[in-house]
Amino acid sequence: MLTLRPVEPRLTDWRERMFRRFEPPASLKLAEWAEANIVLPAGQNARSGTFRNWPYMREILDAIGAPSPRYVTLMKPSRVGFTKALMIAIGATVMIDPCAIGLLVPVDDDARDYATDEIEPLFESSPGLRGLMISGRVEGRNTLTRKRFVGGASLKILSARAPRNLRRHDFKALYCDEIDAMEITSEGDPLLIAEKRTLTHGDRKIVRGSTPTEEDVSLIERAYNESDMRIYEIPCPHCQEFFELLWEMIQWPDGAPDQATAFCPKCGCEIEERLKPRMVEEGRWRPQRPEIVDHRGYRLNTLVSLLPNAAWPTLAEEYVKAKRGGPAELQVFTNLTLGKTWKTSINRLSAEVLAGRVEPIGLERIPEEIVLLTAGADVQDDRIEVCVVGWPVAGAPCVLAHVIIDGNTLEEQTWRDFDAFLMTRWRHPHGWEIKIDGTAIDSGGHEGRTQKVYDFAGVRLHRRIYAIRSVGGARPIWTRAQRIKSGKTARLFILAHDQIKTAVMELLSAEPFDVEGHPNPHALRVSDELPAQWFDQVTGEVRRVKYVRNRPVIEFAPKRRGQQVEALDALCYAWGVRQSPAVKAIDLRARAARQPAPPTPPGAPAPPPAPRRGSPASWAQKFNE
Ligand SMILES: [Zn+2]
Repeated sequence: MLTLRPVEPRLTDWRERMFRRFEPPASLKLAEWAEANIVLPAGQNARSGTFRNWPYMREILDAIGAPSPRYVTLMKPSRVGFTKALMIAIGATVMIDPCAIGLLVPVDDDARDYATDEIEPLFESSPGLRGLMISGRVEGRNTLTRKRFVGGASLKILSARAPRNLRRHDFKALYCDEIDAMEITSEGDPLLIAEKRTLTHGDRKIVRGSTPTEEDVSLIERAYNESDMRIYEIPCPHCQEFFELLWEMIQWPDGAPDQATAFCPKCGCEIEERLKPRMVEEGRWRPQRPEIVDHRGYRLNTLVSLLPNAAWPTLAEEYVKAKRGGPAELQVFTNLTLGKTWKTSINRLSAEVLAGRVEPIGLERIPEEIVLLTAGADVQDDRIEVCVVGWPVAGAPCVLAHVIIDGNTLEEQTWRDFDAFLMTRWRHPHGWEIKIDGTAIDSGGHEGRTQKVYDFAGVRLHRRIYAIRSVGGARPIWTRAQRIKSGKTARLFILAHDQIKTAVMELLSAEPFDVEGHPNPHALRVSDELPAQWFDQVTGEVRRVKYVRNRPVIEFAPKRRGQQVEALDALCYAWGVRQSPAVKAIDLRARAARQPAPPTPPGAPAPPPAPRRGSPASWAQKFNE
């Protein structure tokens, strides 16, 4: 692909000389070219200054730069420099083989970011590329994402969200980054549409890279599986055998991830972190399907990255933290650090399948292993929807009820009804009385309802009743808000929306029994008293994870227009409040050993009667109306 074209006459003498100087040898190696020509901009790079290839990047760059193979696929983790490789390929193509280049990225914002954060700085900091970018308008259009270059090359950065725009262009070189974040639109598959724009070029080049997301839907994994499936193998310093370093080969003593080392899968010897640079330097790519010739595919994990923040003990500590954070964080670790897809059935769950798993349990039929109840409340204008979850000492939680408190939530009576429900006591099979030990109430309503929630929860903090707000992004499961604008007695707590909803959707979609018929402690149990609509609502959203330049973005979207999800939200709040420090402090083992309450001694004041309103079944009945 990289063959020199005649220099156009409008070039100045010095440009002509420069192009001659960079005239490529018969077979140009892009990796060598990059070291001779690329200077990384200061500040944004871990290694600014003259570009040096990581050992595993040399072959990848050469494959991108060579006329053959036509397809190059990169299944990439973070911290190994793949996006940089694409930028270098653009620079080399502009300089050595001027042609029409297309860079396809997931959304418009990404297109602008690539232009300003990656391409423009690289052309400025590399002496060989400096001055090649022609400023000014291109075809009367926005120049930020459309560039022209001295020598005749052009670059168009296009968003996969608007594939219609692709139809006007032809590309000889097509680079696609973060393809797992691209969606099929009503106009079709943007990758296929983009690839069609290269068909007039016999020597076209198509490079696709992405952090993998989820198994079965990952486009980059599918592309890798169609390729010659290269793996990077490094030699064991003890037995000299080559192997691909995988996460299961990293081990550490219990509770001491800072002492993580690798173990050779061939001889079993321990390999210290300090031996890594030499092993990686001596590594080599091996195709698992050598019979595929026109499509090279590379997969890599961060374990062979030589950056200080990718040391094995650092990665082990990240893993321990991600494991504590639940499935949402573990998925990010698996995708970004291990470069692997995440197995989940989260988006395959249907209301019908879940409804087939009901058990004869409920607030009047509490299973004997349940020793704690939590509630989550979603406040609507004309009702409060409450989910009650029961928790054992260890094992699967149970959704015991979903009740609806009808009434205008600006009126006191509705809140009195809600309070009465929260004070209800039920009979535990062991003879003692059980009540709700922690309640999270969403404060996100409108027209003064936020204040109502603050007022209600503020004076009931001693009963572990909390005003909450659910916020996206990476954050601890449960935190107290710094301060809130209104409310004298109010305290607001922040729930980690993405992590909690992911954990709840994983619980909902988990198989209740394993292959041997043992109950799965990570599968939610559900009551047969729950109304049909509950199953529709808790399965009413789909979850998507995207990586935007190594930052995870988790999105939840309704399965269809008008889909209600109050039941899912209430369940998430009931799950979240279980993680509040005061609820976590409750001694569940002591409760499991609890005996029936002794009869009240004569003369002592009688305990106040527990308020009881309609049975949960009747509350649930209202839910269906
Ligand atoms: Zn060995």
